[in-house]
Amino acid sequence: MELKTIVLTKGKEKSLERKHPWLFSGAINRIISDSGEAPFNGELIEIVDSKNNFLATGHFSDATIAVRIISFKQEKINQAFWTNKVQMAYNVRESLGLTNNPSTNIYRLMHAEGDGLPGLVIDYYNGTAIIQAHSIGIYNAIDEISKALQNVYGEDLIAIYNKSAESLAKQTSEEVENGYIYQNGDSNLVGLENDNQFNLDWINGQKTGFFLDQRENRKLIAEYSKGKKVLNTFCYSGGFSVYALKAGAKEVHSVDSSQKAIDLVDENIKLNGLKKHKSFTSDTLDYLKENKIDYDVIILDPPAYAKNQKAKHNAIQGYKRLNLMALKQIKPGGILFTFSCSQAVNRKLFYDTIVAAAIEAGRNIRVLNHLSQPADHPVNIYHPEGEYLKGLVLHVE
Ligand code: SAH
Repeated sequence: MELKTIVLTKGKEKSLERKHPWLFSGAINRIISDSGEAPFNGELIEIVDSKNNFLATGHFSDATIAVRIISFKQEKINQAFWTNKVQMAYNVRESLGLTNNPSTNIYRLMHAEGDGLPGLVIDYYNGTAIIQAHSIGIYNAIDEISKALQNVYGEDLIAIYNKSAESLAKQTSEEVENGYIYQNGDSNLVGLENDNQFNLDWINGQKTGFFLDQRENRKLIAEYSKGKKVLNTFCYSGGFSVYALKAGAKEVHSVDSSQKAIDLVDENIKLNGLKKHKSFTSDTLDYLKENKIDYDVIILDPPAYAKNQKAKHNAIQGYKRLNLMALKQIKPGGILFTFSCSQAVNRKLFYDTIVAAAIEAGRNIRVLNHLSQPADHPVNIYHPEGEYLKGLVLHVE
């Protein structure tokens, strides 16, 4: 079957020549379709420049981002293509020491644009792969992606679970249901991260079930926690809390507005045989307002305040308010771990926002560490927008 072809307006091929993985609708001159029909949402489509030179193949969508590119080569998008992409992503995780690691058996296998497949996230949880499709084009290829995972992992793969209902909800009126698409045994429901145990619940949990992107930063919290009183806000399943207690924290308090999250923290604390922990189901700002804050270490890891460019201004106000409150209240000599996972707020903007909060707090503050996302959440060098997780460790006098 011939693919439909998008012909670009002259001069609009530059970003694709630089391998940026998105084609914006404004670059399109016309669409050639033998049948005369317009491409459907998710349809595989070819892009050529104004002189008919091949540029890329990707998934069409009737939106500002008109095509998400999955290949810059003139090649068939068949089973071998998908298997090769999954294998390449696997090889990177192997070289990071994640695939056969007795201390860590949960990691991100496929990180969308960062691994050359916009719209596809796959997390590997101790034998079970969770697929999260963020585009209809990827969702339509889910059988090939599932086969690719079986080809790459072989007998070691216990199950594949499709967790795309939430991520696709706004893109299609068709019903997308979460559920297992492959099973070859009973899944392990406990995973290891740097020898810490965590309950895994991809069915009821947020996103794919666990926030793998804080792995390296959790290791760092351990270094700052010995003998300290630690507050972990926006704690979700309590990753930072477990690491801090294992490292000998005097006491850890975990705060999340979701009761389900708090239940997960309590389970994970128990699972690791830890004590000296209290959890609070509360809004973080309310908690900071209503309680006497005498913590040595505070972690602020809010959800993405800006999901798009339009929400940026309000997001910045939100980050400033939250950080100001923590900076004003933390004990002298205290350590603040502060994060933003909003893609629309870049590293510089986040830094400047923290500077603004610091000025208003009026305290002497040192920047000790600049934090980021770990290597299994790679950034495609031609897609700087993919660097989404930013963090700072601050010493507050
Ligand atoms: N730090 C976590 C991940 C945080 S995800 C980890 O290491 O796993 C963000 C969390 O913030 C979610 O669990 C969500 O329930 C919680 N949340 C969202 N809004 C909140 C608010 N206003 N106050 C407290 N928690 C909130």
